[in-house]
Amino acid sequence: MSTRIAFIGLGHMGGPMAANLVGAGYTVTGFDLVPEALAQARAKGIRVADSAADAARGARIVITMLPDGRHLLGAYEDENEGQGDGAGSAAGGGLLAASDAGTLFIDCSTVDVADARAAHDLVVSAGRRGLDAPVSGGVAGAEAGTLTFMVGAEDADFAAATSVLEVMGARIVHCGGPGRGQAAKICNNLILGISMIAVSEAFVLGEKLGLTHQALFNVASAASGQCWALTTNCPVPGPVPTSPANRDYQPGFAGALMAKDLGLALNALDATGVAAELGPVAAGVYRRFADEGGAGLDFSAIINDIRAKSDRTAGA
Ligand code: NAD
Repeated sequence: MSTRIAFIGLGHMGGPMAANLVGAGYTVTGFDLVPEALAQARAKGIRVADSAADAARGARIVITMLPDGRHLLGAYEDENEGQGDGAGSAAGGGLLAASDAGTLFIDCSTVDVADARAAHDLVVSAGRRGLDAPVSGGVAGAEAGTLTFMVGAEDADFAAATSVLEVMGARIVHCGGPGRGQAAKICNNLILGISMIAVSEAFVLGEKLGLTHQALFNVASAASGQCWALTTNCPVPGPVPTSPANRDYQPGFAGALMAKDLGLALNALDATGVAAELGPVAAGVYRRFADEGGAGLDFSAIINDIRAKSDRTAGA
């Protein structure tokens, strides 16, 4: 009989990731709070359980792909979490209690580093094994099975998880012990968030100075301004035809997720006392952007915000 996997959280990312596991021959039992997600999962060959705990019973591996750390800790601990408001945390039930000793817990959600460590402690004290394995690559990567996994795990747990992660991803990076996968994820997205603001400010400045987008792109993409935000996710239409700017900024990577991830980076910067200046500013920029209508747009649409505010204040 094939390894049975429980998959909790069958949303934009979890749904296609679980479907890829089914495609590779695993028996996957899933659960989500949203009936529509369950219907889509069933259509892709995922067995649907009545609750998160039911899905975990008898599974060798439990994968979670949930919105944030509150949901993760709640699902691990609380039997009622699977049918409640999505954030319960009362002790006494949940995925850990429902699972067998030695079950491998793989959390792929993006959560606070402190929550990832707390989740790992819960898993270990319950006599289970656990690792954090957040991803990059978006919904397209989840569907194609080409995600990058950033894994925080003990060596033996990393080895045990690798074959399953390889079904859903093209690149699996062991970043260190528990919590280090989340650490890598938020450090990377801190770079990304700040660099997209820098690229966007440069394009708006270029416009004011009479440069064409293509001219600035031709120079910066081959010079020291080169970065992913410019050469892959270019915030203006034209120079990179596949970037979201060419399709009215449909994500891509949504502004809401960048705001969330930079909020997590901010927590980590505060907790560690790093003398960061740009990180907190970038977190505020994307928070405002998400709150003022950018939540569902690709994060590169931040350029429109910068341009609109420039037009109001410049006079150039
Ligand atoms: P989503 O909101 O589409 O999916 C999350 C799902 O979890 C929802 O369907 C929700 O109903 C379900 N859920 C919440 N609590 C639950 C519970 N207790 N039991 C069962 N199901 C529960 O979000 P998503 O876009 O799939 O993202 C999931 C995670 O992946 C997030 O942490 C996000 O930051 C991260 N991520 C997303 C992307 C992306 O491009 N969407 C990229 C990288 C990382």
